[in-house]
Amino acid sequence: QSSGSDEVSKAQNAVQSGTPTIFSKIVDKSIPADILHEDEECLAFYDVNPQAPVHFLVIPKCPIPMLSSATKNEQVLLGHLLLVAKITAEKLGLYEGYRIVINNGPDGAQSVYHLHIHVMGGRQMDWPPG
Ligand code: 5GP
Repeated sequence: QSSGSDEVSKAQNAVQSGTPTIFSKIVDKSIPADILHEDEECLAFYDVNPQAPVHFLVIPKCPIPMLSSATKNEQVLLGHLLLVAKITAEKLGLYEGYRIVINNGPDGAQSVYHLHIHVMGGRQMDWPPG
């Protein structure tokens, strides 16, 4: 597992252009992922570098770079992503709760510029986050 500061420096160096990211390759199945849910609009899969006993990501299939780039046109899709997060957390047995995170932009420590919801659970979360 990489440390928090590794993640922050990765995020600070992340490319914010509209070029396809590694998540587009997961969507088109050109690289593998441990997929938990798939429908026409989105995909949920385990994070490769888990920060909790359960850590998965929910992403739209269309490559919205970040939450700040989402518009009213994506309103229904954004709601769908949250519901898939909730349903998948239930399927994985996270009955005691879980943490939902969206990192947005450099200050938010976003490192992959394809919108994604982190869902972490299976341990007590701390507050405030770092
Ligand atoms: P961010 O820092 O952008 O919010 O989060 C990106 C997340 O994507 C990180 O938690 C990182 O571990 C995860 N990630 C990066 N590349 C891959 C990959 O190729 N496969 C999977 N499953 N997760 C990835």
